[in-house]
Amino acid sequence: MTGCLACDVLAGRIEAPGGVIHETAHWSVDHALTRWIGGWLIVKPKRHVEHLAELSTEEAAELGPLIQAVSAAMARVLSPERVYVLSLGEEVHHIHFHVIPRYRELPGHVLRLLEQAWGERSPWECTDEEAAATAAALREELRG
Ligand SMILES: [Zn+2]
Repeated sequence: MTGCLACDVLAGRIEAPGGVIHETAHWSVDHALTRWIGGWLIVKPKRHVEHLAELSTEEAAELGPLIQAVSAAMARVLSPERVYVLSLGEEVHHIHFHVIPRYRELPGHVLRLLEQAWGERSPWECTDEEAAATAAALREELRG
C-alpha cells in the first residue's frame, strides 16, 4: 500500500467493482469502491497529482472530453435525472472526480444527497454484483 487509495486502485492492489471501466492515456475511470449509489464513478489521473494546477498540458487536454464522454454514457445507460460531477479531495488527495448519477428517486439537492450517501450506511447502497454489472454496461457504452 502506498498510503494513497487512488494509487492502490490504479496499481491493482485494490479492485473497484467490475474493474477498470475506461481509460485514456492519462486517466482512468472505475466504479466507486464505496457502492453508495450504483453507477457512482471515479475519474482520476493515472499519475499521483494532488492539484488541478499541477496537471500536465496533456492530462488537462484529456479531462474535458473524458468527463463529457463519461457523463454521456451515464445518461444513456442509467437514465439519471441529473449527472453530478464534483471534485473535493479532502480524504483522498490524489485528484479524482466523482461522477454521480442522481436518479429520479434520490433527493434533488446535492448536499442532502451527499449527506445521506456519505453517512454510516447509504440508503441506496448497491451490492458488488450490481456495481460490477453497471460497470460492465458503462464499459460497453464507452467502447463506442
Ligand atoms: Zn495517488
